[in-house]
Amino acid sequence: MISFTDVTKVYPGGTTAVGGLSLVAPTGRITVLVGPSGCGKTTSLRMINRMIEPTSGTIEIDGRDTATLDGNELRRGIGYVIQSGGLFPHRTILDNIATVPLLLGWSRTKARTVASELLERVGLAPELGRRYPNQLSGGQQQRVGVARALAADPPVMLMDEPFSAVDPVVRGQLQEEFLRLQSELGKTIVFVTHDIDEAIKLGDQVAVLRVGGTLAQLASPADLLADPVDDFVADFLGRDRGYRGLAFQAAPALPVSAEPTVVLGTPVPDARRVAGDQRWLLVVDGAGAPVGWIEPARLTGPVSHADLHRGGTVAPAGGSLRSALDAALSAPSRRGVLVGDDGRLVGTVRAHDVLTAIEREPGGGGS
Ligand code: ADP
Ligand code: MG
Repeated sequence: MISFTDVTKVYPGGTTAVGGLSLVAPTGRITVLVGPSGCGKTTSLRMINRMIEPTSGTIEIDGRDTATLDGNELRRGIGYVIQSGGLFPHRTILDNIATVPLLLGWSRTKARTVASELLERVGLAPELGRRYPNQLSGGQQQRVGVARALAADPPVMLMDEPFSAVDPVVRGQLQEEFLRLQSELGKTIVFVTHDIDEAIKLGDQVAVLRVGGTLAQLASPADLLADPVDDFVADFLGRDRGYRGLAFQAAPALPVSAEPTVVLGTPVPDARRVAGDQRWLLVVDGAGAPVGWIEPARLTGPVSHADLHRGGTVAPAGGSLRSALDAALSAPSRRGVLVGDDGRLVGTVRAHDVLTAIEREPGGGGS
């Protein structure tokens, strides 16, 4: 657990970067600090490992006041990842990852072995270990940065906008893998970003900071979206917060209808060739998994892949309101397809019923 108690940083020159910050980052969880540029995120992060000394206040790690610890020792026990990877350009990837273990006095063999394992763990091929940082893509360099921070298996990780410099697709992949890794490792992580979507996706809890380094709100992503404490937080979350908040709301008992289907590769039964509101017919594969919609009135022979209207996401039955709404609105029939854990069709929900459920949910309707 990392706790800030009334921590202030005034830089020489008079800027108050952090002003009386108190918060707790619980053990084994991801705490995200988010806020506009210049609100003191980096300063707060670097005060944890004492790359920056607080002007006043206390920071404790597991009850020990960091001011009483040796700075270098403290830093070796804390993983630190920054935006552009921060790799040493003239060391190989493997040696970059092994940096802290070597500083800790591990043998070269052991340090290299651990470095190779980590390379694999962050999803990089072993042969990349012999390359130099400038021979890797930005996304690969970030993975190496994460591997290096993990090398000595520190209980605490500090991450300063680690995924901000890569394109959105790669960023999404890095975020997913980071969450997967954290689910295995359970580190105590303080993660800094200016991107509210990233904060909501990654944080177990999110601290929204204002310029001046004061805490506007500390809450879980769901509570933040459902109940921003003031206009600053609401604006920062953006206009679509109500919609995004739906991702955290389990769908209440939505009325699920049985959906008539036709199996791919078989002809449409005459009984299903009805017009009117049954214009669309759902197609499933041999295992009962939905594959797309067809307009049966237009078809003669067996249903083929070419007949499928592929629009439409599927939602897990019992999933969130947002996934149910996405499924309903993206289907040409406006009936959202729900599937079980095995991927088979459970039934469909009508967009109208999902919207009605959203209106009944506290905080679900947005503002
Ligand atoms: P963020 O990471 O949220 O963008 P920073 O912690 O980097 O914010 O900076 C917070 C404030 O402190 C800003 O106004 C910044 O200009 C100022 N600042 C940061 N580092 C220094 C420094 N070394 N000397 C003086 N002012 C600084
Ligand atoms: Mg910063």
